[in-house]
Amino acid sequence: MKIVLDIDRCTGHGRCYTLAPDLFDCDDRGYSVQLTTDVTEATEAQARLAVESCPENCLSLEGDN
Ligand code: SF4
Repeated sequence: MKIVLDIDRCTGHGRCYTLAPDLFDCDDRGYSVQLTTDVTEATEAQARLAVESCPENCLSLEGDN
């Protein structure tokens, strides 16, 4: 499974890198920076939380069955 970030929609609320620190970091302005697109068993819960929590709907999961 992959997590996809639409950076054009990101307004820097910071929820993704707070809730999913294994998947996201932030740049100097507080915008999201993706550390990896790969979602593993170990990071799946973080990924789902980040997707549900992004107020701008920037995040989505691909290959989620
Ligand atoms: S939660 Fe959404 S809007 Fe906020 S920094 Fe992350 S991707 Fe951007």
